[in-house]
Amino acid sequence: EQARIEQRSVVRDLSVGSPAFDKLTLARELGEAIANREMFLHYQPKVHVRRREIASAEALVRWQHPTRGLVYPGDFIPLAEEIRQIGPLTLWTLERVIADQNIIAADGHDLTIFINISGQLLGDAAFVDRACALVRAGEAKIGFEITETSVIRDPQVAIAHLQIFADVGITIAIDDYGAGLSSLAYLKQLPARELKIDKLFVMQLTSSHRDPLIVRSTIDLAHALEMEVTAEGVETQAALALLTVMGCDMVQGYLISRPIAIDAFRKFLLEDHLE
Ligand code: C2E
Ligand code: CA
Ligand code: CA
Ligand code: CA
Repeated sequence: EQARIEQRSVVRDLSVGSPAFDKLTLARELGEAIANREMFLHYQPKVHVRRREIASAEALVRWQHPTRGLVYPGDFIPLAEEIRQIGPLTLWTLERVIADQNIIAADGHDLTIFINISGQLLGDAAFVDRACALVRAGEAKIGFEITETSVIRDPQVAIAHLQIFADVGITIAIDDYGAGLSSLAYLKQLPARELKIDKLFVMQLTSSHRDPLIVRSTIDLAHALEMEVTAEGVETQAALALLTVMGCDMVQGYLISRPIAIDAFRKFLLEDHLE
């Protein structure tokens, strides 16, 4: 009886339209998406508050699925990690970013471009080798955004790999600071030059009592550790004004620009948005 129930539930789980069936289909499609040229990047600038100039940009991956339409990373990055496709996807992203950086350089803009690195990849020596080889060969100015949570899994290996990245000139930024597990013990061990305050705190900066305190102390902490601070999720002039007073170094968010395709981003760079 137990076996029959199990068998039935397996059959049910694989029926068309069930979550498990969708996941299998999606996993297969994801495996082919890069080869089918369905992945593309959006770029979002980070602006330096005091210098009033574009400091760098972040690449964010999107999937133009033939039938599902535009799929955002929240809906496929976890799956890509699960089916071990995040390595190939991230190496593809890095190659695309290096090519786009050359286009931007030809326009006369010298810009570091950051990509997001899943925690899984900080333990992957083959990924580390390939990523460093790409950055070296392209003489590219690249940054990696990592979360602290990804370091906690196997700190010794992760920190060693981050040091290898830093040694080839890759700028390390700590992403989503404050959103997950934070550990001051790791924070000071990481070769990170930048700390990004999670948009969770930034978006309610001017409407909450606690968030301004958290943001201000995070900025002070980062500066004490000789890191620059970026606030992400800056949507209003009021938030920008407050962050400026608090000494935040860089801002990123819809107020300045949404993430946009390379052609729109090149136009954005040619215009002067910051005066
Ligand atoms: P993230 O790295 O924290 O990126 C910031 C997310 O906030 C992006 O969502 C961005 O579009 C959005 N955002 C930017 N400014 C604002 C704002 O002012 N207001 C609001 N409400 N949102 C804003 P997106 O593009 O959907 O990316 C979601 C997450 O997916 C990213 O979070 C990142 O963790 C992950 N991701 C994106 N691309 C990659 C990738 O190539 N590899 C990996 N491993 N993860 C990626
Ligand atoms: Ca990020
Ligand atoms: Ca973030
Ligand atoms: Ca995030």
